[in-house]
Amino acid sequence: MSHDYRLARERMVKTQLIPRGIKDQRVLDAMLKVPRHLFVEEALRGEAYNDHPLPIGHKQTISQPYIVALMTQALELKGPEHTLEIGTGSGYQTAILAELCEKVYTVERIRPLLEQARKKLWELGYTNILFKAFDGTLGWEEYAPFDAIIVTAGAPRVPQPLLDQLADGGRLVIPVGGKFSQDLIKITKKNGDIVQKNLGGCRFVDLIGVHGWKD
Ligand code: SAH
Repeated sequence: MSHDYRLARERMVKTQLIPRGIKDQRVLDAMLKVPRHLFVEEALRGEAYNDHPLPIGHKQTISQPYIVALMTQALELKGPEHTLEIGTGSGYQTAILAELCEKVYTVERIRPLLEQARKKLWELGYTNILFKAFDGTLGWEEYAPFDAIIVTAGAPRVPQPLLDQLADGGRLVIPVGGKFSQDLIKITKKNGDIVQKNLGGCRFVDLIGVHGWKD
């Protein structure tokens, strides 16, 4: 019942996001609005608003709500931005981004996941998202530079093409580290210089590609 899911979202925002420091009201509103339960398989819908990641098939996961909110808040989206997302997965993070900026370019290497996300996001009425089945460690040259870039898989190092495709003044958020744990890194480009901030520990599935882990 959609009424129960609305309550579940309110509870998620109140107990998981606000107490841990998510304070960007636009991010909180997007998390209240997007029906996360529709991005997991039916049998898992009752768990969709719980404080942990969930499997989405192909050995991938939909990130924990708090991590989605934390990464999104770090992108500092105000509305007019063009955002590149690497790792479409379920499409949930994509929907959150589509609520908060002008255009989302999302790249996923597993085609069936991309097609499933495309269908879902279309059904939900999003028209400001472009999709590509590709190795996202190479970015999306054609539409660069991007005001914001988010990588939702763990990388051994920051892929150079993503740094190159980040606009001046832009923000890049990416988990970087080993296979079993990473640090969430926020990079800001200022007059060509790179400023790095560590947002804390996290655990993501592998970013696989030319500038990521080997398959
Ligand atoms: N944001 C997604 C998280 C999905 S998990 C969600 O909330 O559902 C990470 C995704 O990154 C997986 O679907 C995986 O296939 C994808 N991925 C890994 N390496 C990639 C690459 N080089 N390019 C594009 N997608 C990649």
